[in-house]
Amino acid sequence: MDQLAPLIDPFARAITYLRVSVTDRCDFRCVYCMSENMQFLPKRELLTLEELDRMCSTFIGLGVRKLRITGGEPLVRRDIMTFFQGMKRHLDRGSLDELTLTTNGSQLARFADQLAEAGVKRINVSLDTLDADKFAAITRWGRLGKVLEGIEAAQAAGLRVKINAVALKDFNEDELFTLQEWCASRDMDLTFIEVMPMGDLGNEDRLDQYWSLKDLRARLAERFALTDLEERTGGPARYVRVDETGQKIGFITPLTHNFCESCNRVRLTCTGQLYMCLGQEDMADLRAPLRDSADNAVLENAIRAAISLKPKGHDFDYSRQVVDGQMSRHMSHTGG
Ligand code: SAM
Ligand code: SF4
Repeated sequence: MDQLAPLIDPFARAITYLRVSVTDRCDFRCVYCMSENMQFLPKRELLTLEELDRMCSTFIGLGVRKLRITGGEPLVRRDIMTFFQGMKRHLDRGSLDELTLTTNGSQLARFADQLAEAGVKRINVSLDTLDADKFAAITRWGRLGKVLEGIEAAQAAGLRVKINAVALKDFNEDELFTLQEWCASRDMDLTFIEVMPMGDLGNEDRLDQYWSLKDLRARLAERFALTDLEERTGGPARYVRVDETGQKIGFITPLTHNFCESCNRVRLTCTGQLYMCLGQEDMADLRAPLRDSADNAVLENAIRAAISLKPKGHDFDYSRQVVDGQMSRHMSHTGG
């Protein structure tokens, strides 16, 4: 592939990280993410696996070095392994540094080996609780045992696993140390995510469950010595090292503004819309240029035009937001 000029946005940020939602469907219905009776998109709206390959390959040609596959639940998309196997060629050629995914873990027992064969080295598994009943309540449809089995299979396949837990007041506050110790004992890093006002959280059955990570971190610090790590991923995550265990713990605070200046990422929805910023509604449709022309230059131009519109930063309380800073999009659509 010819080397094209890299993607640089108007604020001189190089776009090297693409998150791709490959489906809006999921086998869980986590209360903070989806409503119980979700209306999913008709299949024809979704990019086909071939279109996904072409889209991602074009981004890679424009300098994207890291791909994170997400959803919905990426592993419920039919034949998704074909897509992963296809992306392996970019890893093999050295044009892609990392191919990874964020998953709820339910299908990992089935796919862990194939993911490893496709060159995936690390995965994020979302898991908020180790209590089977609480797990069933928060995911509505999930079964903890299956996820634990999946995590074991992933580790057995040689994949490095990081656990992502949404911090929820009155829900997993009491599991802070249980989760931390469980991860440490299995050599897994752990990242806490501050809950965002999406999914069902704005509705009447609103879970008033915001638990600030500042408070969570302070509680951890009562028991352990925490060293701040310099590591930055260009995203909303900050990391500490737990001196006693060597474990890395991350804090993702999507609502704070301390990372926009280093933002290196854009998000592609399963329908081919490119969101330039997690906190803004601005998006560009890339499906039309992809479908309208077999000439890749058309798609490349559309991508460049979209990147030239990447906003400087986000603000969840801007008046441009839908209701009081609440996003109308579901995370499962944009890909968390
Ligand atoms: N289904 C996969 C999973 O659960 O890992 C991938 C998609 S999911 C939308 C990606 C991440 O977004 C998960 O870690 C999930 O916990 C997180 N998430 C979903 N809704 C959220 C919300 N309202 N606030 C914060 N994180 C959220
Ligand atoms: Fe599905 Fe992930 Fe959303 Fe849960 S957080 S409903 S597993 S997409």
